[in-house]
Amino acid sequence: MSALSGKIALVTGASRGIGRAIARRLARDEAIVAVHYHSQADAANATVAEIVAAGGAAFAIQADLSVPGGATLLAKLFTAELTERYAAPGFDILVNNAGLSKRATIEDITEDDFELLLQTNLKSPFFLIKALLPHLRAGGRIVNISSMGTRAAYPAMAAYAPTKAGLEALTRLLAVHLGNREITVNSVAPGATATDMNEVARDPVASRAVADTIALGRVGQPTDIANVVAFLVSDDGGWVTGQQIDASGGQRL
Ligand code: NAD
Repeated sequence: MSALSGKIALVTGASRGIGRAIARRLARDEAIVAVHYHSQADAANATVAEIVAAGGAAFAIQADLSVPGGATLLAKLFTAELTERYAAPGFDILVNNAGLSKRATIEDITEDDFELLLQTNLKSPFFLIKALLPHLRAGGRIVNISSMGTRAAYPAMAAYAPTKAGLEALTRLLAVHLGNREITVNSVAPGATATDMNEVARDPVASRAVADTIALGRVGQPTDIANVVAFLVSDDGGWVTGQQIDASGGQRL
């Protein structure tokens, strides 16, 4: 029996990047995984197909988390799928991974872009948790993917960093609020990780300068982040709650 045998997980933004690696890892540990996506249906279906081919269980589910009501709709679709597919009255693991970044200083950011980041990075995770709390079983796990950018002072993260800092504040208070249901709530804060979002970390040449700021001498890969999430959602991670765990290879800010 694997670490997550019999558990059901929802991972947002799982068609690519860190979310895809998390979905694959939780499925490898034998969770049934709902692979949420926004616009990349083919990529989400490919992730599901890969999981199923490896002997796991997964299904894709679509929702736009950049709009008010998007998270509540996702919760409805997810719980309907659980009833239809597994006659399941609840689920066990929620990973709020979907996120959006925009490099802009306070002078350059527009109010529309600020709203977009706020909705996608903070309001949607908030309302997804709110809508799914009645369905999260005792002993459940919530992991919010934040960013080491919350503690760095990067002027070009004028809107992004505050939205992720809000997610970390939410993590801490929910850990206290939900402790009596034995639900743990943690943030995982990636450092520079090679995904579509981080073009510097993705570029083998440009990433060398970043790698010099990282104790382990390289930028992160999506699986590096997924490994940390896998620990937090496992039984072994059950005594960790309300924390921000840096997953950065020892990146200096
Ligand atoms: P990515 O751009 O590959 O993935 C982001 C995911 O969010 C995608 O699956 C995308 O579909 C989803 N998403 C974006 N807008 C959405 C919307 N409107 N509705 C629904 N889903 C939407 O980048 P990634 O690096 O894999 O990012 C994953 C998480 O890690 C994000 O929350 C990001 O902020 C965080 N993070 C990444 C890095 C890094 O260096 N890559 C560093 C710190 C934090």
